Parts: sequence; structure tokens; C-alpha cells
Amino acid sequence: MKLRKILVWVLIIGLFITAANDCNNLEKQLEEANKIIEENNYEKVKIENQKDIERLTKENEKLKKDKETLQDNYKELQDNNEQLEQDKKDLQKKIDELEIKLEESNVKIQDTKKENHNESIPPEIANVKNEEIISAYNNLPENVKELFRDLDCTLYEVDTITSDTFIIPYGTVAFFSYEGATGECKIQFDMDAIEDFEHVVYHEFGHLLDCGYNLQYESDDYEFIQIYHDEKNDYVTDYNYMYATGTSVEYCADAFAEYMKDPEQLKENTPKTYEYIHNSINNIR
Ligand SMILES: [Zn+2]
Repeated sequence: MKLRKILVWVLIIGLFITAANDCNNLEKQLEEANKIIEENNYEKVKIENQKDIERLTKENEKLKKDKETLQDNYKELQDNNEQLEQDKKDLQKKIDELEIKLEESNVKIQDTKKENHNESIPPEIANVKNEEIISAYNNLPENVKELFRDLDCTLYEVDTITSDTFIIPYGTVAFFSYEGATGECKIQFDMDAIEDFEHVVYHEFGHLLDCGYNLQYESDDYEFIQIYHDEKNDYVTDYNYMYATGTSVEYCADAFAEYMKDPEQLKENTPKTYEYIHNSINNIR
């Protein structure tokens, strides 16, 4: 019996020892498992960190490249800017040169214009400076001017009207003359006495038209004297009515002036006079 008891105890103690051993083993296994878990976690974190490092390295490289690109761009812009500055200077130089050339060219144009102007002045009015006389002369019908040239006539601006052949009536402001002795044909304008240059120029050329055909005064023509008497009372002139209608000679000259200035008015008030002047101009050959 004692032996059985002893055996039971031995068995119990053996079981106890085995259990204690097992417990120890389990603890060890648990520790190892924890260790493995810890290591795994560490590996995981390490991998993630490695990934982050790679990503950041890539980003860093990209930023580096971007920086280099920007630096290149900046340098390029700087170069361009320098080139533009140089171009600007070159262009300004060219502009300056062109401006000088333009100025020179303008001077040449002005000179050429002056030369042309001098060349274009007909000899018959070369002595005349008054713009109104020149303008009125230029307005004359071309065949009236031709008649003037054919007679070798010249216009003169004078202080005092003179003549070797004619007595100059008092108050004469302009005078058309064909000097029989010398054959000199001229119209003199008393520059101090004239108020209406346009009318006076046309009036004097009216005298030229009147005597133009081989120096036969048309105003002495029977037909014209008839017209003069018929229409002088209806005649309208903005110059000097009494003077203009005093003789058929002055009436003819003045009617030409009115024909030049206001043909419609002349036609309306004195139709026969208008017709006569109109035909005279058209009959000049
Ligand atoms: Zn007259």
C-alpha cells in the first residue's frame, strides 16, 4: 500500500514536472512568436520607409531637373534680353539714320518743287508776284492766254502806269496797251490802286479779248454797239457800274470780267451780252 502511495506521488510529481516543463516551453514559444511579429513589423516599416525614401529621392531629382530647366530658361531669357537690347540699339541707330535721310530728302523735294515752280511760271507772268493776279491769270480760258502769248504780251506790277503812245486817264488802276511804235504789248497793274485784283485782271483781259482779232476792236462793231445800248441799263457788276457802262469798249471788257466771275448772273440780266462774249471766246483760233 505504501508502495502504491509512493507510486501515485511519483506520478503526481512527474506530471507536475512535465506540466511545469510544458509551461516553460509555451512561454518560450510565445516569446519567439512575439519576436517574429516584432521583426515582421520592423521589416514592414523598413520597407515603407525605403519606399518613402525612393519616392522622395525621385521627387528631389525631379525638382533638381525643374530647377535646372528654370535656370536654363532664365539664362535663355537673359540672353534674349541682351539680344533684344542690342537689336533695339541697332534699330534706333537705323531710325536715326533714316530720319537724317528723310530730312535730306525733304529738303531735296522742296528744292525740286521750287525749281519746278520756277520752270512752270510762264514768261508772260514771270514779273508778277501777287498771288491774286497769278491765280486770276491761271483761271483764264486757255485760248485767251494763248492769244496773250501770241501777241508777245507781258504782265507788269508797277507803281505808276506809263505809256509812250497813250495818255493815261486819271484814276487808271490797270492798263492794257499795245504800243504801236514798238509793238510792245503789256498789261500794267498799279499795285497801290487796285482793290479787287481778280476783277481788274479779268477786265484787262477783256480788253485783250476785245482787240484780239488782228487788233480790231469788236466793241466798235455795229452788232456789239447795238447790244451795248440794248442791255447796259440791265447790266450788273460788283465793280464800278458807271465806268463799266461808260463806253462800249469798257462795257466789253467788264462784261468779260463778269462772264469769268458769275456767268449765270450775266446770262440772266444781259443775255445778248453773255452770248456775244461767249462766242468771242469760242471763236478765238
Ligand atoms: Zn478798261
